[in-house]
Amino acid sequence: MSEDCLFCKIIAGEIPSKKVYEDDFCYAFDDIEPEAPVHTLVVPKKHFADLQTGPTEEDLGRLMATVPEVAKIKGVYESGYRAVVNVGPDSAQTVQHLHVHILGGIKMGRFTFEGSARE
Ligand code: AMP
Ligand code: ZN
Repeated sequence: MSEDCLFCKIIAGEIPSKKVYEDDFCYAFDDIEPEAPVHTLVVPKKHFADLQTGPTEEDLGRLMATVPEVAKIKGVYESGYRAVVNVGPDSAQTVQHLHVHILGGIKMGRFTFEGSARE
């Protein structure tokens, strides 16, 4: 656990969350400011600041393998969903604890940028 980490506090139950799924490695909960009808975060219980800071291939495998399981629980496994990992300043990552966003329940456009590079 990292002292000043919001998601570590959520995993520890010190800050309330709407739990969707939990096992020995992962915790999943609904995003507090949903950007789609389904917007759930899947996080490893171990603290990693981001995708490229600390997690092993096994950690990443376990995290990503949990995503379809959570999608099933949220009812978007068949309809489809987007799994997003923000990394670093240009991605607008705001919480420095590795997490996968599951977004679904709506027909999505391709990607969203402040200024798309695609003409
Ligand atoms: P990111 O911008 O990729 O770092 O995503 C962080 C996400 O955490 C954002 O979508 C926030 O809405 C969400 N978030 C922040 N605080 C909470 C909280 N207390 N409970 C649930 N989700 C949160
Ligand atoms: Zn943390």
